[in-house]
Amino acid sequence: MLSRGPGARVGIGYDIHRLVGGRPFVLGGVTIPHAQGPAGHSDGDPLLHALIDALLGAAGLGDIGSHFPPSDPQWRDAPSGVMLERVLHMVRATGLTPHNVDSTIVAERPILAPHIAGIRASVARLLGVNTAMVNVKAKTNEGLDSLGQGRAVAAHVVVLLAEA
Ligand code: MG
Repeated sequence: MLSRGPGARVGIGYDIHRLVGGRPFVLGGVTIPHAQGPAGHSDGDPLLHALIDALLGAAGLGDIGSHFPPSDPQWRDAPSGVMLERVLHMVRATGLTPHNVDSTIVAERPILAPHIAGIRASVARLLGVNTAMVNVKAKTNEGLDSLGQGRAVAAHVVVLLAEA
């Protein structure tokens, strides 16, 4: 065990999507009432996309674009939870499993506070971990730039993988 190091690996993920009309506002697998939603090839869920990149990063498996190319019609409007499920299989095949997640969502609108508990439970369920192992924070961009003007939503995620 000692020669193998700490047996834990950290990964970081970031994603941003433009907000457009006629799309559901999906965050962490939860649909939140809002006039606009994230544009994207899949459902555009920026929190799950950042989580996928963090998981792939921690496992040394590349990034979301290399595994789910936008050119692949299979992922058009697909729930990002399905992509996450596939990534979890890849991660677990390396002998690692998610330990805990911390995240920050940046969105000026809608107000996310009432939805944090639901998003947290959804992400924990998708990862197969206890809700206490998933932290979700939300903040505005103080009115600055595209995020602050409500034209986009972004997410930052850090994940720790432990030996399964
Ligand atoms: Mg994305």
